[in-house]
Amino acid sequence: MRWLLATVLFIFVIFQNACSPQKKYIHTCPEISKDQTGAFFAPIDSDLPVTLKVDPDFSKEQQSAIQKAVQKWNSFYQKEHGKSFFYLKTDLEEQTLHISESISCEELEDKNYSQNSFWIKKTDSEKLWTSLGLTKRNPAITLRCYLDDILTKQIIMVNTKYLNSEQEVSVFLHELGHTLGLNHSCLEDEGISKENYISCKNLPKAHPYYKAVLYPYLVQLETKESLENNDEARTNCLYKEE
Ligand SMILES: [Zn+2]
Repeated sequence: MRWLLATVLFIFVIFQNACSPQKKYIHTCPEISKDQTGAFFAPIDSDLPVTLKVDPDFSKEQQSAIQKAVQKWNSFYQKEHGKSFFYLKTDLEEQTLHISESISCEELEDKNYSQNSFWIKKTDSEKLWTSLGLTKRNPAITLRCYLDDILTKQIIMVNTKYLNSEQEVSVFLHELGHTLGLNHSCLEDEGISKENYISCKNLPKAHPYYKAVLYPYLVQLETKESLENNDEARTNCLYKEE
C-alpha cells in the first residue's frame, strides 16, 4: 500500500514557509482561470455531509468559532446545492486519538479513520509542531492522506498556543477549505509562477486570489471570515452536481 502525504498549512505571517503540499491535483473547469487549475487537492469522495468531530479540549470560544466557520461553508453549499458539507459533532467525551509528539497517516489508519468522518484536534505540543516542520507562525494544519489519488482520511490539527483569538474563525474557515480539496489560492513556495498555478508574489491586495480565504498568509490583526467569490467558484468546480 502506498501512502502519499500532503500537508497544507496556514501561515500566520508572511516571511515563513515551513511546509508545502506534496500532492497536487489538476482540475479544470470553465469558471477557473488556467493559473489556478493546479490549486486543488482531491475532493472528498463520499456522501455529504461528512462528520466533523470537534475535540472537546477546545475552549468554548474556540468551539463556537469552529461552528461559525462550518456554518459559512454549509450555508454556501446549501444555497447552491441544497445540502451541507459538514455535520458538526460536538460533546464528544471520548478521545479516540491521542496525538502526542508525532502523527502519521499510518496512525490514522490504525484508528479506523475514514474520509467521511474526521477530527479537528487541539494539538499544542511544540515537539509535534517541530516534527511537522511547523513553527509558531503556523497555528493550524490539515493533514490529508491518500491511497493512489484517492483521499482516504484527514485531520485538522490546531496549535492553540499559536492561534490569535481574533483570527480563530479565519483560520478554521481556511483549514476547512483544505479539507474540501482546495489548495491555496496562489503558490506560496519559491514564488515562481507555474502555468497552472500562479505565485502569490506581487499579487495586489485587491486581487481576487489575495482576498480569498484560501490565500496562504494572514498578517497580524487581519481577518477573513467570509468566503470570497474565488473560494466559492473553486469549490463549485470540485463539487458540481452530477
Ligand atoms: Zn493553508
